[in-house]
Amino acid sequence: MTLDATHEPTLASWVESSRAPGTDFPIQNLPLGVFRRSPGEPARVGCAIGADVLDLSASVALGLLGGLPPAVVEAARAASLNAYMALPAASRGTLRARLSELLRTGGSAQGHAGAVLIPQGQVAMALPAEVGDYTDFYASVHHATNVGRLFRPESPLLPNYKHVPIGYHGRASSLVPSGTAIRRPSGQTEPKAEGDAPAFGPSRRLDYELEGGLFLGPGNALGTPVPIGEAGTHIAGLCLVNDWSARDLQKWEYQPLGPFLAKSFATTVSPWLVTVEALAPFRAPASPRPAGDPAPLPYLRASEDQAHGAFDVELAVWLRTERMRERGEPAFQLSSSYLRDLYWTPAQLVAHHASNGCNLRPGDLLATGTVSGPEPGNRGCLLELTNGGRDAVRLPSGEERRFLEDGDEITLTGRARREGFVPIGFGACRGTILSAKE
Ligand code: MN
Repeated sequence: MTLDATHEPTLASWVESSRAPGTDFPIQNLPLGVFRRSPGEPARVGCAIGADVLDLSASVALGLLGGLPPAVVEAARAASLNAYMALPAASRGTLRARLSELLRTGGSAQGHAGAVLIPQGQVAMALPAEVGDYTDFYASVHHATNVGRLFRPESPLLPNYKHVPIGYHGRASSLVPSGTAIRRPSGQTEPKAEGDAPAFGPSRRLDYELEGGLFLGPGNALGTPVPIGEAGTHIAGLCLVNDWSARDLQKWEYQPLGPFLAKSFATTVSPWLVTVEALAPFRAPASPRPAGDPAPLPYLRASEDQAHGAFDVELAVWLRTERMRERGEPAFQLSSSYLRDLYWTPAQLVAHHASNGCNLRPGDLLATGTVSGPEPGNRGCLLELTNGGRDAVRLPSGEERRFLEDGDEITLTGRARREGFVPIGFGACRGTILSAKE
């Protein structure tokens, strides 16, 4: 993962909003997404720059991507990012280099600004890719320990945890882009007393999960594992994922095969693919394992991955209730945590997923699982923050929450920072809870 001219901190764009301090989308970021200008229009690929979107189809039509490999130009004109993700890393890099040239001060897109630049407020974002398969891991040892403690205080972590990356196969059809309203699910919950029948009704313990997402690149053939030393090149970029969870449904249904309807009603994905190339300055060593922990088995161990395999991205969760919105009060930060604190690196998740020969395909989404950290303020879901619903979170509005109520709006954010580089962000991953269907 090399640094080049696109990461230069002195680089500036002719798009004024991209120079605003605190923007998620300076010219050093250049994340890709899929948007529509009006509901009936075909989706197209765009690049976020400040408060605007650069239209890649329009850029191709004007010849601004001329000279790039034909497969890159085709990917830029597509209706999703699957074709982009299928490109080898070197080809993806050529698109980034060109976008950086077009958008920098004096860049040749400036003369076509009226044709290629659209305010983000005037477009609707779609999912970055057509996701064939979605897998959710459980890669935060802090989350696994906090949740395990609620159920098994004497031995929070199960014996497999430090050896094998744990995950479940999620539902791709109910992935939704940020901004989509989330309908409170109904489902079956455990009987209140022995001998009673289980109940069916709206979830009363609705929760969010703060997660990172990995969109996969070229993929692998069925039966052919991905070696750990190559696994990083199979990640096209990162996003934010909110794995909405109905804890009461989950508690009754999860044994012995794991999460099912408690998770599959909706999962929110942030709209921008922050590419691995953009994240090159923000790589970090794999989280150090405490003394006495087992070393990863050889198929999960590569020195380069241990040295640079993690991503130094700070994540945060924000809650704004209906009352806070009515009163014009800002969102309240519930927690923050770091992707670099995960027990497994993204490459280890990819190598493990393919280790049995399972084929991964461009556009597949792997989520990290809830990202928590060692401190109380690092707990990435309400189940952890409220100690299983026992301790309410008090909000500045005077309200309190154990789990989510109708009208609550949850926003996830992510930001990568390093001394000497311009910080980049992920944009919002947002959803508001609607009341259950009658
Ligand atoms: Mn999850």
